[in-house]
Amino acid sequence: MPAPGRLKLALLHTEDASSRFPAPDVWDEVLEQLDEEANAEIGVEFQDISLEGTFSGIDLRKMAIAAGAEVDYRLAYGPMSGVAHSEWPMLTRYAMEGCMNPLHRFHWLPRSEISSAVRAMSGDAALVMAKTLLATYERLMARAPKQGTPSEN
Ligand SMILES: [Zn+2]
Repeated sequence: MPAPGRLKLALLHTEDASSRFPAPDVWDEVLEQLDEEANAEIGVEFQDISLEGTFSGIDLRKMAIAAGAEVDYRLAYGPMSGVAHSEWPMLTRYAMEGCMNPLHRFHWLPRSEISSAVRAMSGDAALVMAKTLLATYERLMARAPKQGTPSEN
C-alpha cells in the first residue's frame, strides 16, 4: 500500500512541471484529473506527504520477518522482485553477456542472441512458489484477528 500524500505530491510535481514546460492543452486535463484524485478522500491542504515506501513506513522485508514469512521473502519474493525491477544481477543473468575481448577488461554487453529466460523447469518452480505463497497466506490469515475483534497486540 502506498504511503500517504502520494497523489498530493504528484499534483505538486505536475503543477511545477506545467509552469516550467508550458503546454496548456496537455497540462490542464492532467492537472484537473490529478486534483480530483488527490482531493477525493480528504483535501490536499490536510494531507501530509510521506516519502516512505509503504503506508506503515515499514519495508516489506521487515513485514515479512514480523509475519514469519522471511523464507518466502528471501527465496521467492526477493528474486522475483529483482527480475521485475531489472536489478543489475538479473540483467546480467538474463540479458547480458561478457565481452570476449580480453583487452576490454571483461565489460558487459547486451546479448547478441535473444534467448528465452524461461527454462523447462520454470513452470514447476512457479507452481511451487504459488503453492508456498498460498500456504503462507492461509497460515497468516489463520493467525490474523477476526474483523471487528480487538487485537491483543
Ligand atoms: Zn568489449
